[in-house]
Amino acid sequence: MKKIKSRRKVREPRFCFKTLSEVDVLDDGYKWRKYGQKVVKNTQHPRSYYRCTQDNCRVKKRVERLAEDPRMVITTYEGRHAHSPSHDTEESQAASNAQLNSDFFW
Ligand SMILES: [Zn+2]
Repeated sequence: MKKIKSRRKVREPRFCFKTLSEVDVLDDGYKWRKYGQKVVKNTQHPRSYYRCTQDNCRVKKRVERLAEDPRMVITTYEGRHAHSPSHDTEESQAASNAQLNSDFFW
């Protein structure tokens, strides 16, 4: 008898986009906790890793600057949020309202 091992890796969906921005971490309405940083070759800008602070949410975000053009920020999301963005302060609410008017593309 042959045992069939099914090793199907479930790949999390990824979204990646570039933004012309002075700040590294764009306000996307979600809360993130930095858990890692990596030195990137040919640039003085390190790559940062963030994780959603929401319990039971495993979405990750990677933020780095484009080596050829450090004005550009590359944000990569891995996974999908199973909850809505957090709006616990009036301040963050105002920030996310402003976000709606900017061209935030996926
Ligand atoms: Zn989340």
